[in-house]
Amino acid sequence: MPDLAIPDVVAALERMHGAERWHWTPESDPFEVAVGAILVQHTNWTNAERAVDRLREAGVLDPDRLADLPDEAIEELIRPSGQYRTKTRKLRAFLDLVARHGSLEALLVLPSDALRAELLATWGIGDETADAIALYAAGQPALVVDAYTRRLFSRLGLGPPPDDSYGAWQAFLVGELPPDAPALARFHALVVLHAKHLCLARRPHCGDCHLAPCCAFASDAPLPP
Ligand code: SF4
Repeated sequence: MPDLAIPDVVAALERMHGAERWHWTPESDPFEVAVGAILVQHTNWTNAERAVDRLREAGVLDPDRLADLPDEAIEELIRPSGQYRTKTRKLRAFLDLVARHGSLEALLVLPSDALRAELLATWGIGDETADAIALYAAGQPALVVDAYTRRLFSRLGLGPPPDDSYGAWQAFLVGELPPDAPALARFHALVVLHAKHLCLARRPHCGDCHLAPCCAFASDAPLPP
């Protein structure tokens, strides 16, 4: 099987998905990104998006208006994302963090180390959520490692074991990607698009994938009859 390096993977993803657009970009609304990053925990994007859409339709996709809602109202609005009581607590903790800084803008202009520390000290926000907020809401060069990233590179036979630590996966990727926010956002978007359209959790569409000749998972798959 041909050797494969991370830049080769990125180039192949760009060829396959370069014309597609994922809903988060560096231009996305920062509060919507932060709320979406919390709501997508332990669910898929379809469910998280439904919850975000309900918040938008209710006119509360805004820190002050959302903070004014009682917990029960938030729970009802975000119900499609699952774990809606826990996620309401997480949203409330994030809203408290915003309030302590005076505004979302004031929070997001913190230096990257300080912002990450503040986010990680907030109940319900872990590494992946913190990096997603730093990258897409604050425009900082954070590298998001999610389940899609682990699945893709593990199937390609690259990187640490799939369930290794977040830090181990970041260390594997970080030196191979340009250290700027647009490039890191592009990389993350390409991985998500690939996972959603071809590299599915079950029955990936390897026959349509440019990476198949170099993919350990595809080479292990049984040949069609
Ligand atoms: S060949 Fe299949 S398993 Fe490998 S990266 Fe492509 S879609 Fe995923």
